Amino acid sequence: MTTLTKTEGDKAPSGSGAFLSVRDLRVRFSTEDGIVKAVDGLSFDVERGKTLGIVGESGSGKSVTNLTVLGLHNPKSTTVEGEIVLDGQDLITASEKELERLRGNKVAMIFQDPLTALSPYYTVGRQIAEPFMKHTGASKKEARARAIEMLTKVGIPQPESRVDDYPHQFSGGMRQRAMIAMALVCDPDLLIADEPTTALDVTVQAQILDLLKDLQQEFGTAIIFITHDLGVISDMADDLLVMYSGRAVERGSVREVLREPKHPYTWGLLSSMPRLGGDTSQALNPIPGSPPSLLNPPSGCPFHPRCAFTDQVSGNRCSTERPQLGEGRAAACHLTAEQKQTIFIDTIQPRLR
Ligand code: SF4
Repeated sequence: MTTLTKTEGDKAPSGSGAFLSVRDLRVRFSTEDGIVKAVDGLSFDVERGKTLGIVGESGSGKSVTNLTVLGLHNPKSTTVEGEIVLDGQDLITASEKELERLRGNKVAMIFQDPLTALSPYYTVGRQIAEPFMKHTGASKKEARARAIEMLTKVGIPQPESRVDDYPHQFSGGMRQRAMIAMALVCDPDLLIADEPTTALDVTVQAQILDLLKDLQQEFGTAIIFITHDLGVISDMADDLLVMYSGRAVERGSVREVLREPKHPYTWGLLSSMPRLGGDTSQALNPIPGSPPSLLNPPSGCPFHPRCAFTDQVSGNRCSTERPQLGEGRAAACHLTAEQKQTIFIDTIQPRLR
């Protein structure tokens, strides 16, 4: 296995004073088959009150990144390097006790499947009240009142009686709302939402997204929103990070990245997405091939086995030289700025109409 040096990671995003700052993060798992490089030199910032969208296919490292931020990786089989600084505190060197204090209090997570986060054995109200008692020292009575208040906030009807229901007595959409109530009960400064609406129908999905936006406005929460759905991200995020093979391949404001994407992988994601109101006779263009093995990632640019534009880069740089992600608005690709613009206007944009 190649040993990577620090200089091979992404450059830091421009700007400072972020609430969460991740620098050159590397996460590796030991498996029977070898070392999996799940995250390979990732840097990003999230500011207070803003939403960072992270998109990419399964296995791109987006969920592992966020579980690592929460300290939820298995320390026995996982190696974590780099820097994760939350509100001035380095989380990589933090003790389990400190991480425990941060989780639920300063940082909370909403999972795709509420049944994995909610216990079937306790009432919804108890599960919302417990982290509140633990982190604020509130009494049982105060915590119950807070649970009712949170259920009201997330739009559960008759919260005074539903607070005593068990999760199985809630519909799927209501369970998702209850999980959001649980995540937000201590007014976390950072909320990590991992595909929070994937399992829901479009109407409930829209309600949940509106709810998250309202709650963000009310609490000033920073949000990391992980999804493979670029349509959802355009509505939710301020900034966007596109991940591939454990690295960021494109970064910018959501508007910049979606209006004028610069990386062939982002072009592929956009071209393979059905468009509301688009030309229905136009075929979708799925990205050929499948995501690379993280056990043995391709040399050079990890996207090169699937990329249609390698012949436009001189020599065999795509397969031998790893492109770096520059600062600020950037794409990790050897194509020149002029080539990217020409390909986008001539080839990609017509597909997106
Ligand atoms: Fe494609 Fe080469 Fe750019 Fe990678 S560096 S995205 S292989 S053109």
